Amino acid sequence: MSNGNERNLDHCLKCSTCHTQCPVVANYPDFPGPKQLGPELERLRLAKGQEKPLEIDESLALCTNCKRCDIACPHGVKPSYYNMKNKARLQGQSISKFRDWILAHNICWGKIGSKIPGLVNFALKFPLTKSVMGLMGIANRDFPKYLKQQIKIRNSKNDKKVLYYPGCYASFNEPEIIQATIDILEAYDFQVELASVNCCGTPVMSNGLLDEAREMAIKNTGVFLKYIREGYKIVTTCSSCGLTLKEEYTNIIPGTNSAELKQNVWDLFELLEEEEILPFNENKEKIKKAYYHVPCHLKAQGIGVPAANLLKKVAVKDLIIEDNYCCGIAGTFGFKKEKYPIAMAIGDPLFKDIKNSQVPFVITDCGTCKLQIMHGTSVPVKHPVVILRDYLKNSDTEKF
Ligand code: SF4
Ligand code: SF4
Repeated sequence: MSNGNERNLDHCLKCSTCHTQCPVVANYPDFPGPKQLGPELERLRLAKGQEKPLEIDESLALCTNCKRCDIACPHGVKPSYYNMKNKARLQGQSISKFRDWILAHNICWGKIGSKIPGLVNFALKFPLTKSVMGLMGIANRDFPKYLKQQIKIRNSKNDKKVLYYPGCYASFNEPEIIQATIDILEAYDFQVELASVNCCGTPVMSNGLLDEAREMAIKNTGVFLKYIREGYKIVTTCSSCGLTLKEEYTNIIPGTNSAELKQNVWDLFELLEEEEILPFNENKEKIKKAYYHVPCHLKAQGIGVPAANLLKKVAVKDLIIEDNYCCGIAGTFGFKKEKYPIAMAIGDPLFKDIKNSQVPFVITDCGTCKLQIMHGTSVPVKHPVVILRDYLKNSDTEKF
């Protein structure tokens, strides 16, 4: 079945607006950019009747899938979609196939790591482990620590029903995000269920494993639709998971099911905004200053910055909201040895801006943005839901 992207290929007027917004173009002049790799390469491929886009194959692997080109295009073309499809056509030729598979399946390592976190965290720091990973083409940088999930949920009944989908990062590396989300939703009278963890498919897609991503999308959509038809809203706290459920599934499995899912997925703060919930704590002074980094995949959802808006209203006096910069990590991109220097070069203006702002901490909704910002600045980074939950503790509502 054709989707909107297939039809809008000819809407590309070659204006190059997307090219000017691509962070890889800005930091790696040999990268042909979204216009050439996206609509132009696809047109060429179709005109020649080729199965694979052989002309500029290696460059495709440098697209981070940040979506900035899609956001920039004034004609509704999505260059990143063609990049993703053509990357998948080339995956069989990749010299880094094994390494990419390992990184794409972080859910497997997360499941093991969060069961025996002490052992796995120790092993990941071990010089021999790092050497083996280096030989496999994995960058020499810290991996996030694994943690065990110990979540308290009341399971109270209510008309407002939410299925909370936390995604891999919160599930395996920062379960505090899960607890904070449940605490807030329950405090404002939502009935919450926690979706059992299954990767949304973002890392699999970004690594060119499109057939596998399609299978995951079909399976996940089936599970979500059962809940939606029982009156649940699907809530996410990860920008990339949210974008994948809302937008990518409509690209890779176009049809009524993915369209129905898209209508029922909410970023947590988007939902609080919609429900006009403005939590407030009269007993607590506002946080003086913080820096909010807007993840590229939140921008691509087209919902503005609901977390930053709420925190600015209720919890942080001086919140610097910055949406110009990409942090550069792009999921697994910044963990690849040959791409690590590009990832760090992309993130450099953001790192400098954060350091110049002299803030005690940074806030962002994306787990991998957090890792990259901490790596590039050594400034602590927190998820907005954790900030909000901690701010609301001991408030008059007595709900926390
Ligand atoms: S994809 Fe959009 S922004 Fe890029 S060249 Fe074509 S019309 Fe311009
Ligand atoms: S998705 Fe990002 S990295 Fe890839 S071409 Fe578009 S702007 Fe460039």
